[in-house]
Amino acid sequence: MTIIFPDDTKATKDDIRDAIGQTVTFILEGAVTPCAVCSGADLYDGINEVSLDAWCATCSGNYWIISDVTSEVTAHVRWRTQDQLNMGQTGLTYEGDCSVTIDIDALTDAQLGAIREVRVDNRKVQPYRMIYRGVPNRDRIKIICREWEKE
Ligand SMILES: [Zn+2]
Repeated sequence: MTIIFPDDTKATKDDIRDAIGQTVTFILEGAVTPCAVCSGADLYDGINEVSLDAWCATCSGNYWIISDVTSEVTAHVRWRTQDQLNMGQTGLTYEGDCSVTIDIDALTDAQLGAIREVRVDNRKVQPYRMIYRGVPNRDRIKIICREWEKE
């Protein structure tokens, strides 16, 4: 019996992820957006790069608002089962609280660098390690996350 691997396994894996995956929200920091009120009212002072309305309640006259952006991505999520540790060569390795695997094209490099937080199953996790996977071509990123410190 001959096993024929499809040429484009990425499409197949994308289909599988779409079927068994879930939507995960990435919180990306540092996006600069114009004040909706001032841009709508055409109150941009292009020379000083501020709002012409110094008393705007939304931007306080700054015009530019630095805010987080959210990006919804389909991901394959795996939560660490209790006390599950990987017996590696160096001994016990903490595997993180959960892994979020996404398409390599789901987020740009800049977006990956700007991830501040990931919301999975109504829980907040923070990425601390990214592993590029896929053979022969890298086609997905496994993001190892840990849950935020309990406050
Ligand atoms: Zn404004």
